[in-house]
Amino acid sequence: MTLLPMTDLHAKPQLTTIEVRNPADGSVVGSVAIDSPDAVAAKARELRLYQPEWAAMGARGRRPWLQKFQDWILDNAEHITDVVQSETGKPRAEASIEAPLSADLLNYFASNAEAFLADSHPKPHSPLAKMKRLTAVNHPYPVVGLIIPWNFPFMNAPVDGIPALAAGASLLLKPSEVTPLSAIEFIRGWTEIGAPPVMALVNGYAETGAAVIANSDYVHFTGSTATGRKVAVACAERLIPYSLELGGKDPALVLADADLERAANGIAWGGMFNSGQACVSVERVYVEAPVYDEFVARLTEKVSRLRQGQDDHRYRFDVGAIATVAQREIVQRHVDEAVAGGARVTTGGKPTGVGTFFQPTVLADVDQSMSCMKEETFGPTLPVVKVADEDEAIRLANDSTYGLSATVWTGDTARGERVARRLETGAVNINDAMANGFSFALPMPGWKNSGIGSRNGGADGLLKYTRPQAITTPRIPTPSRELLWYPYSKGKFRVTMGIFRAAAAHGLRRVGIARGGRR
Ligand code: NAD
Repeated sequence: MTLLPMTDLHAKPQLTTIEVRNPADGSVVGSVAIDSPDAVAAKARELRLYQPEWAAMGARGRRPWLQKFQDWILDNAEHITDVVQSETGKPRAEASIEAPLSADLLNYFASNAEAFLADSHPKPHSPLAKMKRLTAVNHPYPVVGLIIPWNFPFMNAPVDGIPALAAGASLLLKPSEVTPLSAIEFIRGWTEIGAPPVMALVNGYAETGAAVIANSDYVHFTGSTATGRKVAVACAERLIPYSLELGGKDPALVLADADLERAANGIAWGGMFNSGQACVSVERVYVEAPVYDEFVARLTEKVSRLRQGQDDHRYRFDVGAIATVAQREIVQRHVDEAVAGGARVTTGGKPTGVGTFFQPTVLADVDQSMSCMKEETFGPTLPVVKVADEDEAIRLANDSTYGLSATVWTGDTARGERVARRLETGAVNINDAMANGFSFALPMPGWKNSGIGSRNGGADGLLKYTRPQAITTPRIPTPSRELLWYPYSKGKFRVTMGIFRAAAAHGLRRVGIARGGRR
């Protein structure tokens, strides 16, 4: 077993290029030039030239481009998978989901954008407001800056970028310095189909990210909570809106009435998928005491059977490498600190192979105070805690600074829903993991330190990239010299008061309150 030196493969070099390595074996797989802040500004200026035409096309005019892009992604899925694998060290199966899921999302927003963006005509709230036709229009932000992490290097771009494009915005995309190659494929596809030049790619570290914020009208950021705070401050300085999808520490609650075989399989998958490097990975497990021993035994058996290694084009392995040496060090620290505090490693627990592999790991007899229960691990570890009952499971699940998602495992789905409503997380999946992420009609919000705003959620996922505009149009002929209701004189004041009294009475009737204040 040969380990790579304990230097971060992706440490920032003082260079104008970034060398990209496959973390599964350390080999160099490509390099990209770093964009200076001036270069980022120039690309943003160019986007501003083309975006008005893109917006003016309307959702119907943009749809054929999005559909062509969807076809391009499906036609190039094998190549995209190769590139994703090369810079992440993922197994073939995991890398291969990124293209089809991106196409699915494109299909959803391309098909629905026209309806989502349509003007609305809200009902006037009072007799006075009835004198106007009310229209709410959704205008896209000209430049949306999108800053993404390395864990799904292709899919992270469309997940938040496609709704922006479908809304009529242009996209200034900055991928992670760890995995810039997949984003090149994303922009290559857009260019190859001959689509309008409303997407630009910039590469680099924090300085490039800061330049994206400096040149955008809206920023969507996906990444760590620590960087998310800096992004929020930078956006606040510029008074531009933003949304943040940040880290998580997602709990799984295994209730005593659960199908333990299903729970063990689902939690093993939810914790080990992408080597645990998904924001919505299962990161900690609470099990009711009567089924604790049996659950730990089953989970240990499932996890110990996972195949780990560097895949080629064959689908031979279940668990791949960890993206960076620094990330693997966090995983190792969490395991070591848990063991030092009295936890038992029931399987795994060590680095393995060449590159940055870490064995799929189950930790039993863990307690809530350990770092593996408090901090985001983002690795292939499943710490398991015994709890007395459902209430304790909920209390400990909520005892976290994060609030992204959770899973509840029970034989009684009505009970599962009751528990879900008591959890302080943006999503809860019952007897499944990550299912909400694939349901684009549902919002995917992060509570607490897991984010601000949300993605997807039907129309909301697209409307967040627009600024609303209110238009009023007279319904009745307007006097040429004066406002209809403005109290220019005592007589007019009486009329105006009459109108407001009528409106108030109308409103009171509608909410069922009798005059005199009683219900
Ligand atoms: P990171 O915060 O280190 O980097 C994310 C991006 O921000 C990168 O492109 C990076 O270059 C850029 N960046 C760094 N400093 C910046 C600055 N000062 N200004 C602007 N941009 C800057 O995150 P990471 O390590 O790449 O990704 C892992 C994290 O992402 C985990 O915490 C994970 O939970 C989170 N994540 C969240 C979601 C979600 O939807 N909630 C999804 C995927 C990943």
